[in-house]
Amino acid sequence: MKCRVHPAYVGKGKPRSKNPKCVCSKIHAQAEKRKPKARKWSIDVEDDPLAFLETAPEAEIVTTDLPRFSNGRPKPIINREPLLESADSFIEATLAQKHPELHQVRAPEGYRLRGASTLVDGAGNVVQQWVKTAKVQDDPAFLVEICKAAILADPIPAAPVVKKPKATAAELEVAVVIGDAHFGMLSWARETGDDWDVNIARRVHLSAIRQALSLAPPSSRLLLINLGDAVHSDGNNAQTTAGTRVDVDSRWAKVVEIFVQTMNTAITEGLANHDHVEVVNIPGNHDSQTALMIRMILAAYWRDNPRVTVADNLKTVWGHQFGNSLICAMHGDKTRLNNIPSLIAEDFRKEWGNTKHTVIYAGHLHHSRKQEFPGIEVEYFRVLCPKDSWHASEGYRSKRSLRCDIWHREYGRVTMHEIGIEQFEHA
Ligand SMILES: [Zn+2]
Ligand SMILES: [Zn+2]
Repeated sequence: MKCRVHPAYVGKGKPRSKNPKCVCSKIHAQAEKRKPKARKWSIDVEDDPLAFLETAPEAEIVTTDLPRFSNGRPKPIINREPLLESADSFIEATLAQKHPELHQVRAPEGYRLRGASTLVDGAGNVVQQWVKTAKVQDDPAFLVEICKAAILADPIPAAPVVKKPKATAAELEVAVVIGDAHFGMLSWARETGDDWDVNIARRVHLSAIRQALSLAPPSSRLLLINLGDAVHSDGNNAQTTAGTRVDVDSRWAKVVEIFVQTMNTAITEGLANHDHVEVVNIPGNHDSQTALMIRMILAAYWRDNPRVTVADNLKTVWGHQFGNSLICAMHGDKTRLNNIPSLIAEDFRKEWGNTKHTVIYAGHLHHSRKQEFPGIEVEYFRVLCPKDSWHASEGYRSKRSLRCDIWHREYGRVTMHEIGIEQFEHA
């Protein structure tokens, strides 16, 4: 092996301090420390004046003296690794910001530009360039564009017209709170104790929502609140938004379609008994991108019905004031429980000051948990779906139910109906 510090030494094994021609291991260590490692140099796109010209957001320049043949011609480069490891090479990484012109590169169609690395020889000539890309489908803005295009190109049928109820109680509002629905999750009874697929999800949720609607008095407004994780996988790759692998049933597009149909049925039936229906779709950690699409699809479908509102919520917390009450909803994965009151006080300053009762509906935990702070109740909700194989093996066990709360304009929450799955699944 050739020693980098003492090139004259050629021997077997690693050069060590005992070797007379390679006396000090410390020198090696210091030399290694001093040598700048080839690494990515990030450019802040906001600060880069050439960013709009498709400059790679992350760019890197590696300058090197190329390994050469004895006649002076540069040796061909197969890939970076042997070059960077080469004992003869002197590697210097330079800030890419100084040479943005080198990174005016284009990504192939269907891909977006993520970065570029340029290898420059000692004379400043570009020897090789690597363009780093990612599939455009990963970009949430792209998903939204696809969704818009699909709606415009192939219009979905018009939403049904539902007759307005004759008599409703103006002093009441009804909230049907759907805990994490996990449409598209696959669970096998022999592993987990319960079967679950997309058709079971539709049947169970519709039965529970119908039971809730039958218990609720006709009111001024029905809130249909989906607390997030409505769809188990955020795309066709059977994984959550962050990339955790999950067990899925069926194709993602079919799952989204069935969830949308389920919500449309619930909205249609809700309109028969309530003056107004407001649909709230909270993004969860399983479906933060899909939730955006679902919201847009529902908004497009009901756009001509003035009695339906699809909440345009992009913040962590959705909130709505009804008389003396502030009703909020969030998924619950991003904010620690103790921080929730201050978050609400800040985001809903006006409503917080004008109301007496504040309740936060939260999901994510899949079990019931309630914490009361001064002036605010935070409540985590049970779900109707069973455990998946991972949760079952980890020992998670909780009851399965859906909630329907009746709110009074002056007195706040006055009635709570808990609809357990046993009430309709095994009847
Ligand atoms: Zn979650
Ligand atoms: Zn969940």
